[in-house]
Amino acid sequence: MDVTVGNRHLMHEMNRSLILRAICERGPVSRTALTEIVSLSSATVTNIADELLRRGFIHEAGHEESAGGRRPVLLEFTPQAGYIIGVELMSDKVRAGLVDLGANMGRVQEADITGLPPMAAIARAVEMIETVRRGVDGHARIFGTGIGITGLVEPETGVISEASNLGWRGIPLKSLVEERTGLKTTVENDCNTNALAEMYYGAGQGATDLFCVTIGAGIGAGLVLNGELHRGRDGSTGELGHMVIDVDGPPCKCGAWGCLETLAAGPAILRRTADTIKQGRVSILSEMCGGDTGKLTLEMIIAALDQEDELAVQTARRAGEYVGAGIASVINLINLERVVIAGPVAGLGEHFLSSIRQSVSCRALSVPASRVIVVPACLGREAGIIGPATVQIREIMNSPGSCWV
Ligand SMILES: [Zn+2]
Repeated sequence: MDVTVGNRHLMHEMNRSLILRAICERGPVSRTALTEIVSLSSATVTNIADELLRRGFIHEAGHEESAGGRRPVLLEFTPQAGYIIGVELMSDKVRAGLVDLGANMGRVQEADITGLPPMAAIARAVEMIETVRRGVDGHARIFGTGIGITGLVEPETGVISEASNLGWRGIPLKSLVEERTGLKTTVENDCNTNALAEMYYGAGQGATDLFCVTIGAGIGAGLVLNGELHRGRDGSTGELGHMVIDVDGPPCKCGAWGCLETLAAGPAILRRTADTIKQGRVSILSEMCGGDTGKLTLEMIIAALDQEDELAVQTARRAGEYVGAGIASVINLINLERVVIAGPVAGLGEHFLSSIRQSVSCRALSVPASRVIVVPACLGREAGIIGPATVQIREIMNSPGSCWV
């Protein structure tokens, strides 16, 4: 293809994306209003809108109210124009569900993969994908599969460089799933997929930049800059859990000492609470765990918080202080606009969140600290399926023509 023709194709694709996104975000909208929103000629808008109508990406949704004359036709996005199968690959199970282009999720299939070697676990993931696929109406278009996984993923190849909770290293997950299903497959770190899902369909809506911190057994984060994921060269952006908070702190699995994860992830929170109970602190938590602090769970602490148990409140606030200290350093570094707190530990609720906010305002520089907004995630477990699908939904919105060939 010569350069001029190539440029024309590229320009057309950019205009298509601009118009599709405008209809998705602002619809139902008339062609005239659309022309003003996207600042393109009315001929280009009409031409591309007709193309999107033919392809089923948008539909006509009645007429605009008008004082007189012909009432303009309104255009609206069609989320059911196509589907992505979202897959959440965890250490003990795999979950898969159908997600339409508007991030609406269908029924979820689930299978146990505890202790399975990589190839057997992948075979089970493929089974789940095929089960979801079989449940789809024959006319529906499935554009691909998006997989989210805890671990380091090579951005270009979809190879799992390292997933320590699964014990995987150098597994070419993307190509293995593509070979077996024939579906275009994307593989992304789960903290990144959480960030994308919250950005477009959750607590990040309306923001341009977002830092989404997921806190569970570990701590990770996804960074969205100008609407797109920032992965870094090796895909390791967002390892907030390994930010050193206390140089004399406990040893971390990464080889350093006093990483945020050793102070504020789920296991650290339980350990600290158990130690305090063992030292004789009176708390409803002792009864809840039947006197055996080894049986303490995060759910128990959340339940004790509902009763305003003093130790539970102190636990939530202390964890929030550490997390806030880590976030404050990130704010100083990249002047964050919005921070979303996700994952099971976010269940510690308002005491935890307000402590994060307080810690941020004490520790980050005053101007960025006063402007940043720290909010809880709002998608919950659905993010595990919607997030990986969002990777491909964004690709389609950025380049609708890519799925027509
Ligand atoms: Zn570490």
